[in-house]
Amino acid sequence: MACMFEKFADQSPVLLLRDFVLASCCRSQNPFARIARKEDPAEVVFEDDQFIAFWDSHKASQTHFLIVPKDGAVRDASLLNAKHVDMLEAMIAVARQLIREEARLTNNQQRTQAILGFHLPPVAKVPHLHMHCIAPRVKMGWRARLLFWPDSPWFVTADTLLRRLQEKQRAHITI
Ligand SMILES: [Zn+2]
Repeated sequence: MACMFEKFADQSPVLLLRDFVLASCCRSQNPFARIARKEDPAEVVFEDDQFIAFWDSHKASQTHFLIVPKDGAVRDASLLNAKHVDMLEAMIAVARQLIREEARLTNNQQRTQAILGFHLPPVAKVPHLHMHCIAPRVKMGWRARLLFWPDSPWFVTADTLLRRLQEKQRAHITI
C-alpha cells in the first residue's frame, strides 16, 4: 500500500482525496453489479435475497467490507428517501452482525470503534449504493480517516442518514 500512496505525495489534500478515491473503492465502472450477478469474483462474507457483502479490495482497517443491495436501484446515498428506511435499517442490522463476527466488537464497542457509512457524490463514483463497514477505527491511517471522515461533506454515517430519512418519514405521516 505504501507505494500506491507515494505518487500522491505532492498533491493538495483535495486532489489527493479525489485520486485516492478513484484509485481505491470508487472506480468509474460499476463493479458491484457484476459482483452481485457473480460475474466478477469477490470475497463474499454474507449474502441473502436482498444484499451481498464482500471485503473491500483496499482495506481501510483490519475489517473493511461493503454491503450492496443486489438490485442496484439506487445509485448513491444522496438519492435515498423516506421509503428506503426499511432497507437502510436492514443494511445496518447486517453490518452490525458482520462486525460482531468479523471484528469481534459488541454493539457497544461499535459505537466508538466501527464506521458504517456511505460516500456522497462526487466522491461516490460507482453508480451503485454501497455501505462501507470499517473496524477498528484506531487501526485506520490518516488517509483512511480523511476518506471516511464521519459526517463530512463526502461521507455520511449510516446512523445520521437513517435519522434524516426517519425525520422525512415522520413529516410525510403528519401531513
Ligand atoms: Zn465508497
